[in-house]
Amino acid sequence: MPELPEVETIKRELACALVGKKITEVVVHNPKVIREPVAAKFKLGLAGATIKGILRRAKLLLVELSNGKTLAIHLKMTGQLVYPGKGLPSARVSFYLSDGKILDFNDQRLFAELRLIDDWHALKFIQGLGPEPFDITPGQFKEMLASKKTKIKPLIMDQTFISGVGNLYAAEALFRARIHPARSANSLTDKEKVLLFKEIKDTLTEAIKYKGSSVDQYVQLSGEPGSYVKFHKVYDRAGKPCLVCKTLIKRISLGGRGTYFCPRCQK
Ligand SMILES: [Zn+2]
Repeated sequence: MPELPEVETIKRELACALVGKKITEVVVHNPKVIREPVAAKFKLGLAGATIKGILRRAKLLLVELSNGKTLAIHLKMTGQLVYPGKGLPSARVSFYLSDGKILDFNDQRLFAELRLIDDWHALKFIQGLGPEPFDITPGQFKEMLASKKTKIKPLIMDQTFISGVGNLYAAEALFRARIHPARSANSLTDKEKVLLFKEIKDTLTEAIKYKGSSVDQYVQLSGEPGSYVKFHKVYDRAGKPCLVCKTLIKRISLGGRGTYFCPRCQK
């Protein structure tokens, strides 16, 4: 699933490519991805509107429109935005723009969610979000962990606790901080908490620099893959030697998610 770096990459690319352009027509090839309003109203509400700005909150993209409405896009597992697109029926929704080009929304598994709304602040998803790692200090992160008995990896993936970190970057940040993913959060020393916080931010920053990680279906706006996969140390490397100590990387299930770590480096 796209995490903060992938959605941030798309946000920046959308901002460059689309701000100032008008949506002339919307073709809905499969209405399943439209959560609100119904497809006919969705199309009407978008046609004629100019794209004013692109925001991101956690893993949610927000396209601000000249008519005061916002198009909220959650890519979920397999959502993709591709520009210029082709407008083929294999896209779920095609947005025709005033530059004569098309923005395609693809979603193989149909879990993605598109909403055309009046006030994105009122979305339940937004109201439940914890802070982003870039918006808090190491001291605040330490305090947030203090009372938590939850295992550290599911905790940092919990969007109500801290937003934007998912399965991939949680595994990578914990490896870099040399912390075992199943440790209880309040067992971390202050030094470990501060190091983990730094590694979360550094991992996300580096991943943004390389336009994200193309695992599953994620692609950049151009349709090209993101190139951060080559820097992964543990994610999806079960059975391969640790890049630090040569011990084989292990995969366990934690909080229902496949979790990769080095049993020697991570204590
Ligand atoms: Zn190791």
